[in-house]
Formats: sequence, C-alpha cells, structure tokens
Amino acid sequence: MNPLQILQKHFGYSSFRLEQEAIVHAVLAQRDTLVLMPTGGGKSLCYQVPALCFPGLTVVISPLIALMKNQVDALRLNGVHAAFLNSTQSPPEQSAVVDAVRAGTLKLLYLAPESTFLKELPRYNVSLLAIDEAHCISHWGHDFRPDYLNLAQLRTLLPKVPVIALTATADRQTRKDIVDKLSLRDPAMFVSSFNRANIRYTVEPKRQSSERLVEFLRSRRDDSGVIYCMSRSSTEEVAAFLTREGFDALPYHAGLDRTLRSKHQDLFLRDEVKIIVATIAFGMGIDKSNVRFVVHMDLPKSVEGYYQETGRAGRDGLDSEALLFFSYGDVIKIKRLAQVPGNEAQTEIAFRKLEQMAEYGDLRSCRRRFLLQYFDETAPQHCGNCDICLAEHELVDATILSQKVLSAVTRLKGRFGAGYVIDFLRGSQAARIQEFHKKLPTYGIGADVSKDDWHDVIRELIDQGYLAKAEGQYPLLQLTDRSDDVLRRTSTVLLRKSLARPVELESAAVEEATPAYDTSLFQQLKDLRRQLAAADNVPAYIVLSDATLQ
Ligand code: ADP
Ligand code: MG
Repeated sequence: MNPLQILQKHFGYSSFRLEQEAIVHAVLAQRDTLVLMPTGGGKSLCYQVPALCFPGLTVVISPLIALMKNQVDALRLNGVHAAFLNSTQSPPEQSAVVDAVRAGTLKLLYLAPESTFLKELPRYNVSLLAIDEAHCISHWGHDFRPDYLNLAQLRTLLPKVPVIALTATADRQTRKDIVDKLSLRDPAMFVSSFNRANIRYTVEPKRQSSERLVEFLRSRRDDSGVIYCMSRSSTEEVAAFLTREGFDALPYHAGLDRTLRSKHQDLFLRDEVKIIVATIAFGMGIDKSNVRFVVHMDLPKSVEGYYQETGRAGRDGLDSEALLFFSYGDVIKIKRLAQVPGNEAQTEIAFRKLEQMAEYGDLRSCRRRFLLQYFDETAPQHCGNCDICLAEHELVDATILSQKVLSAVTRLKGRFGAGYVIDFLRGSQAARIQEFHKKLPTYGIGADVSKDDWHDVIRELIDQGYLAKAEGQYPLLQLTDRSDDVLRRTSTVLLRKSLARPVELESAAVEEATPAYDTSLFQQLKDLRRQLAAADNVPAYIVLSDATLQ
C-alpha cells in the first residue's frame, strides 16, 4: 500500500494536510527529518503513516505518559498494532510488550525519554525513530527536559536508523540544538507556516485590567475562552471575581484536587462552563475547537509559550482573539521568578526570552509580523488583524508636534533623554530642569500635551527614523539625517492615534545624563549678567541661549 492508501485505510482521512505528504516521502526515503508544525497541524501522522510502510518497528519518544496512552489507544482503535512501555505498567504488562517487540509484530512502540529500554533497541529491527516534542532537548527551548538529553545516545546505538524530530515551537537556536544534540545528518527541514490568520492579537495596558476584562467579556457573552494567570492564587481570585460579576468561570491549576481539576476541565470542554481561568498547566493535549478568546492577565515567560497558549484559540478557523494585559512591572516581577539559582547561563536565557516577550507587549508595529519573524518566517508589514494594524486607519497628523520635539532636542543639543525633553516641552518647574533651559525659546511650548502623548510622538519619531536614541549608558535623544525633513516640513509625520498605550516609554530607572556644557563659561556669563543688571542704561538681562554656551 502507498502512503495515501494507508492514510485512508487506517486513519480514515481522504488526503494529507499541509506538508504531511512531503514529510512522509522524506522519511520513507530514510532521510533524517526535522518537522516544525504548529500545534494541531498533524505531526503524528508524519511518523505514523511511515511506520506502517516500513518493515520494522517505529520507536516514538514522547514526554508525557498520559498523552502516550491516548495516542496508543487511538491507534489501536484504528487497527494499528501499537504499544507503550513505561514504569506505570506492571511487570507482566511490560514483558508482554517486550515479547511483541521480539516477535516483530508491533509497528509502533512509545517510550519515555528516560526509558532504560532505549539501550535494548539495537537488538531489534528498528526502522524509524520519531522524537516528538523535540524542543524538550534544548536548553534554549521553553520546555527543557533533562531526560531528553538521554536521546543523544540513539545515534550511536542505532547509527543506520533514520530519525524524525517533531516540534511546534522552535526558533532558530532551538532548531540548531535539536539537530546538534540528535546528530541529525543533513536533515530535511519542513517548516509549516505559523500564521494563525483567524486570531486577532491585541495588547492593552495592565493598569485597569479587571475593568477591561469585564468589558471584554461582556462583549463576548456567549463565547468560551481561557484566561491565563501567572499564579494559582490569582486564577482563583479572578475566577471568583468574574463569578461575582455574573460570568460563568472556574479556576484550573495543578494545585487543585485531582477530581475537581478534571471536573472543571470537563465542564469547560463540554461547554457547560464558558470561561476557564488557568495557569499554564491547562492546555497541553486539550483539543477544544471553539475557544474564541485567550486572555493573558500576566506576561508570559516567552514568545513560544505565548504563541502556544494563544494557539488554543480558534482551532475551528473562526475569528478569535488573543488579548494580553501588559505592564513593565510584570517584566521586573517575572524576572525575579525566572532566575535559575546557581545557573547563570539558564538565567540569562530566561531573561532574554522574557525581554522578547516584553518587546511584543510594547510593540508599535504589526504583532503578527513580530510573532512570525520570531519563528523565522517572513511576513508582510501589516496583517490587518492585530490592534496595531487595525488602529492604522486612524492616523493623525503629528508634524507640528514632531517639529516641537525636534526643536527641543536641537535646543538641548541631544544631551538629554525623553523624560527631560518632555518636561522641558511641558514647561515643567521640576528642580532638575536647569534654570538656563527655562529661558530657551522652546521651553514650555508643549504644555497642552500630556506626557503620554509626547511619549507617543517621540516613539513614533524614533520608529520612523526622524529621531534616534543614542547608544550607550543613557538613551539620549538625538537628531538624525532625516530630522531636517520634518523641521523643514518636507515630510509629514502621521501618528497612530487610539493605540492602546501599554507603558510609559521610559521607566523611572532611566537617569538623565549631566549636560556637557562648560561650567566655567557659564559662571562667567552669569557674572556678566549680574554686572549688566547692576548698570543703569543696559537691558536687565540677557537670554542664555544654547548658542551662547557653545
Ligand atoms: P500535532 O501533533 O501537530 O499537534 P496531531 O497529530 O495531534 O497534531 O493532529 C491534530 C488533529 O488533526 C488530529 O485530530 C488529527 O486526527 C487531525 N489530522 C491530522 N492530519 C489530518 C489530515 N490529513 N486530515 C484530517 N485530519 C487530520
Ligand atoms: Mg503532537
């Protein structure tokens, strides 16, 4: 039988999906293969179909014993001779499986990565090794499992057997790790698109997240969805809060009593409860197609994690939404939790991942593009289905505001950061504003504009290359080659209004640099001014413009 016939006969599907067919062919040609396909894409068939074509045994490594059992049960229902071998089985059960392997009747054998049976494999006729959830072998992956390192020996144990590694989450670094650690030989790579076009990505500031959550849920009365929280206690608090507000919501986390936990899960899966408020313990292996929204109350630890969790929305292809409540406070809080004591390298990776997630939260360009680029996928500039792209049509002309910023930066000689420039524009009386700056012509010309709005303008100018942040210790604002275009009005600056404004541009931690003017000259000028003021027939003061201070 050819692969298509096997697909139809044993699995009851009429055709291959996405790249399944090409993958199956590569495996049948006995090439090492790396498959990257989003969750729900159909990775299992990529080794299950070849398993039925090959003469010998296909060994599948899978991380979760519970999922292993489900897969084997499903295969058996389809008349496929499959089994798993693990420590939950009684000795007689285990030896029955080993007997089947020895007899050569078994087609698929599922093993956990820590299995001692790996070492026995060279004795048998193994045709294919399938490593599911292969990202677990990488420190860089978001779900590193030390047991997976055990799999590195497979290449030596079974040098001739082709390997197929499968994962839904692998950036470039993780992929490289998988190839290295499993010693894949010139692997055929299959990367399916990670774009989930029916999911709308939105970010809102965390400041009023409970009020906003209630509004959000009111607008989605009949929809079912998952709300993720960082801690077990907050899942319970949020669920209780939503219940008080009249919603149907139940908590779910690993600390709940086993029966209660599966009861909550079942009620949700059966649509008897619309909302589940969960930690990330919820979701692995859950296949509910009509999840309309996934909300994150707290910042996820990594972009992969976020992508996975939001990927649980809209499996049925209908419009769905992924909403994240973001604040920089979370970054700091989660950084503390993400530290891996005694392991600097791991801590650094965790921080880097968290910062990438923060970058997503603070994004000013298409969020889908960011996610896809994270998985090394090219994407158009605008997706038309994220908050940023949707806000795009509401553009306001911010050229005059931009000119004010650029003039202020010119006056301040590029020696100050955004906070100072904004205070200067708004005519702040703050002590840190230097007296002579208060005399400059642009001081206070933007008192009517809020700090947040000024931050938006500045951010936009930086995004569009009209303004730069200096490299180095202090993010000083400086002019660029293009600033003149705005100052002379040959360019118009459009600002996306009504953008969710997630954070303040700069945290309080950002210090201002000391200006580098010549203090002795400044003192002389002050003295001169005093003398002039004392004289009779001359003006009472002179303006200390920045030119004076050259
Ligand atoms: P993954 O491991 O990539 O998350 P699975 O292998 O568990 O995905 O498959 C997800 C779902 O898609 C399963 O219900 C599976 O039966 C279904 N599926 C996979 N391939 C096909 C296909 N060619 N045609 C129809 N359904 C498929
Ligand atoms: Mg899978």
